[in-house]
Amino acid sequence: MNRKLYDKLIFDHSCPGRGGYDLPHRIYPDVKLPEDLLRTDTPALPEVDEPTVVRHYTNQSTNNFGVDTGFYPLGSCTMKYNPKINEALAANPAIAGLHPHQPADTVQGALQLYYMLQTMLSEIGGMGEFTLNPFAGAHGELTGLMVIHAYHDSRDDAARTKVIVPDSAHGTNPASAAVAGYEVVEVKSLPDGTVDLDDLRSKLDGTIAAVMLTNPNTVGMFERRIPEIAEAVHAAGALLYYDGANLNPMLGVARPGDMGFDVMHINLHKTFSTPHGGGGPGAGPVGVRKGLEEFLPNPRVVKTDDGRYDIITDSPSALGRISSWLGNYTVFIKAWAYILSLGANGVAKVGPLATLNANYVMHALRDLYLLPIEGPCKHEFVFDGLIDKSTGVTTLNIAKRLLDLGFHAPTIYFPLLFHESLMIEPTETESRETLDAFIAAMRRIAQEAAENPEIVKTAPHDTPARRPDDTEAALHPKVKFADL
Ligand SMILES: *Cc1c(COP(=O)(O)O)cnc(C)c1O
Repeated sequence: MNRKLYDKLIFDHSCPGRGGYDLPHRIYPDVKLPEDLLRTDTPALPEVDEPTVVRHYTNQSTNNFGVDTGFYPLGSCTMKYNPKINEALAANPAIAGLHPHQPADTVQGALQLYYMLQTMLSEIGGMGEFTLNPFAGAHGELTGLMVIHAYHDSRDDAARTKVIVPDSAHGTNPASAAVAGYEVVEVKSLPDGTVDLDDLRSKLDGTIAAVMLTNPNTVGMFERRIPEIAEAVHAAGALLYYDGANLNPMLGVARPGDMGFDVMHINLHKTFSTPHGGGGPGAGPVGVRKGLEEFLPNPRVVKTDDGRYDIITDSPSALGRISSWLGNYTVFIKAWAYILSLGANGVAKVGPLATLNANYVMHALRDLYLLPIEGPCKHEFVFDGLIDKSTGVTTLNIAKRLLDLGFHAPTIYFPLLFHESLMIEPTETESRETLDAFIAAMRRIAQEAAENPEIVKTAPHDTPARRPDDTEAALHPKVKFADL
């Protein structure tokens, strides 16, 4: 097939007089529109026949790399496979057609699903109660910090103006703390990637509202000193926040609530297998330990004594609303279906399998790639580029070359702890054959770097786009056709 034929912009296919539509004129009554509302020129739309449109967009759709087209080991993003049955359920018109203003009486099933998911997440996280309202992980962090703010407010403790965040944290942590009105205080990591407890202790005082931790942390290491950290944080009167965006390795193995965390969020769009990337949609439910439930936002779904479900919008001590309705409902359906289809036993296998896969890949490559932090890792790990740096092949080059070999690149240049970070998260949904193929590709790149570095440095060679200027694209995005 000559893909290039259909690879042009849709406007470049335009040919005057061609079309692929037939508007049903007669079903609309004759309505006289005011003259000044009528357009005088012809709209600048492409004139194309139906087969061209279909081929154009079908080809375009395959220019993108997705978890349905190949292995996607994007560290910190948990790009696991998204079972298609979840999509079918979410698209069910009986659910998709509901209106958020419908009286609770008419949506009992939908509310039951919502309530079940809240309850399942509370069980998985070891928390007292969850809200499903937030639309993303970062939104969950903001909500969680607002809960913490409401808690300190309820005790007339206004001196707590700062939040402590480790230097290895996801960038959303300091950003959310700042948006919530807090000053951010950074705490250092030890050489093994875990939190420096002495540095943390020296920063804990009556001005600290909360400490935000990610566990396993961003380099895939389990924070072994959580009990001591929790004790120190609580002794200082602060609350402990758990960034559970990637709860994957913990599923069914350990619960943040049992570790002493007070507030947490979970990304349903990572751990619970709802598709993400390209900006959404997501959901970042927030859980709180017993005693903090009253501060969760409205609206909430509750179960009444007679076994019915109701929406509460006016709980007085709640921090208010953080979303217009109950949240991203289709994401809830998919997460709910995912948990129920795995069952408790299946959910408990996710963490160990994700951990096994990550360690398998790590061990198969560590003779060629620099492993700055000794394993075993949890669900992900970080290489600091190739061991042999003499060839000048960088992490960016390796990531680009992987695209030629049919794999999505890992996360690169994050975390900032190392210069050449290459952060790999295979997830539990990959077969051994896929992992072996990825390992072979990574080994091949290391060999190419030694024997023919130019081929790696000039990659990718076979992709529809080669090396777009990310910075320019972010600063000056072109979001429309030039001459329209
Ligand atoms: C992805 C992620 C976030 C942010 O989640 P969004 O849904 O992208 O806002 C926060 N923390 C960690 C550790 C993450 O991996």
